[in-house]
Amino acid sequence: MICSLSLLHVSPLHHRPSPTPNPSTHLLHNFTSPFELKQVHAHLLKTNSPLSSLPLSRVASVCAFNSSFSYAKLIFELVDASEVTHWNTCLRSFAEGDSPADAISLFYRLREFDICPDNYTCSFVLKACSRLLDIRNGKIVHGYVEKLGLQSNMFLQNMIVHLYASCGEIGVARKVFDKMPQRDVITSWTSMIGGYAQCGKSKEAIDLFLEMEDAGLLPNEVTVVAVLVACADMGNLVLGRRIHDFSNRSGYEKNIRVCNTLIDMYVKCGCLEDACRIFDNMEERTIVSWSAMIAGLAAHGQAGDALALFNKMINTGVKPNAVTFIGILHACSHMGMVEKGRKYFASMTRDYGIVPRIEHYGCMVDLFSRAGLLQEAHEFIMNMPIAPNGVVWGALLGGCKVHKNIKLAEEATRHLSKLDPLNDGYYVVLSNIYAEAGRWEDVARVRKLMRDRGVKKTPGWSSIMVEGVVHNFVAGDDTHPQTEEISQTWEKLLQRMKLKGYVPNTSVVLLDMEEDQKEKFLYQHSEKLAVVFGLIKTTPGTVIRIMKNLRVCEDCHAALKIISVVSTREIVVRDRNRFHCFKNGYCSCGDYW
Ligand code: ZN
Ligand code: ZN
Repeated sequence: MICSLSLLHVSPLHHRPSPTPNPSTHLLHNFTSPFELKQVHAHLLKTNSPLSSLPLSRVASVCAFNSSFSYAKLIFELVDASEVTHWNTCLRSFAEGDSPADAISLFYRLREFDICPDNYTCSFVLKACSRLLDIRNGKIVHGYVEKLGLQSNMFLQNMIVHLYASCGEIGVARKVFDKMPQRDVITSWTSMIGGYAQCGKSKEAIDLFLEMEDAGLLPNEVTVVAVLVACADMGNLVLGRRIHDFSNRSGYEKNIRVCNTLIDMYVKCGCLEDACRIFDNMEERTIVSWSAMIAGLAAHGQAGDALALFNKMINTGVKPNAVTFIGILHACSHMGMVEKGRKYFASMTRDYGIVPRIEHYGCMVDLFSRAGLLQEAHEFIMNMPIAPNGVVWGALLGGCKVHKNIKLAEEATRHLSKLDPLNDGYYVVLSNIYAEAGRWEDVARVRKLMRDRGVKKTPGWSSIMVEGVVHNFVAGDDTHPQTEEISQTWEKLLQRMKLKGYVPNTSVVLLDMEEDQKEKFLYQHSEKLAVVFGLIKTTPGTVIRIMKNLRVCEDCHAALKIISVVSTREIVVRDRNRFHCFKNGYCSCGDYW
């Protein structure tokens, strides 16, 4: 500070320009604090230089906070500047830079000093609110927009829709959107569709997209990405393929973001080959492309290919990130590759400086638990540097069921009942573990506990899309209009399945009931109903694609393998965690799931 002060005095502004940059000129434009600004100000007064030579936006940014605000205001008055313009420049840099929260505070300061905001002011603060997902302040700014009579400003309205949509207030977003006098293709629609897709309302996103199509509007790149995200979530392959065609026709073939989203969409719709084709044809790939493909191969049980792709990526010189490692660890856990998993987990921090997140710990516990290393899984949890969450304990509990360890299952459930008290899944697993061990009193105790706590059992459902219509099936469902036909087809199919060696595995029905009743119960599992419906409704040879909200049970898994033989069909099931691709009597998971 002393240094700049003395420099200021040695070379006054009116001196002949020297060939080397004048240090005082430097300070005149680059002051970084109100204190330095005051020095420059004093200097200008002393040398009779005009105050207007000050960079006024810098004055604003340096004085935005604390008591210097009024000092800046005074300077603006003296130079007769259009004050709000300079504050806007400052707001903008806050809103778009690292400190969006400062933009909001500055906005309130402007109001406090009666400086009237204009449409730019509002747009920058709205942007800051969107970035911070700060709906409380966003609503206040929205109020100002109305008060200032700026409702007809299309740009602001779009930002408001975007704000509500990204904060999950879809209802309000929709209201603002519907009230807009003219609809701008580029931003309105996209904001709404993106907002829906982001907060998991995929069906609404798709419906709105279809509405947009009906209105004769063409989606842009951002809309394409948003709709593909929704298709991936819903497993809507038909629409996903249509969007893919459209994006090729619109010249987005080489668009990296579109390609990355297409990979994810095809993976989640169970079309691994299509995903690979997109990936292979990409001229340029980002870490997102590699990670999406690695995760896709892992989810489809192609662990070897996932790891090979990872090595290829490293050899190409691309640095993996935290998401890449989630895919890699999934690949290892799905295939029981314990040693490889350990190796990659260690390498993550050692070689790439990535601090493991809760998801990575979850993968490791899953890896150990599936492989039956339950004690090691438990110790691993105990030594975690961050608090284990429900997923981590849930992974241990899952392993306890497969490897029949009641003691650790009880411990895992103890933690789970605290972390996630209303999730029925854990209680069901525990009661099933007791039932398998014939401990019926404990089964009754868990069921009572669930009743007392008001925990409701999530019904299992499966869905299949036929000719663009989604058909949902719930276990034991006899409300479907074709229920009679489904049950007749199942009976015939069952005879052929039994000839191929299918024996119903009633041990998965853990209710205290007679054996023949158990079988009946088993035959009405939702994925069986959906597959039979698919056999009836689709042409021979077509792949049957099912989505299921829970894990596939052992009996359905065995049944689907045999159905793939007797019907010569490929059946792809996306369950809660992964894909099963049944073909010629085998499943891509290698029965390790
Ligand atoms: Zn089942
Ligand atoms: Zn499987």
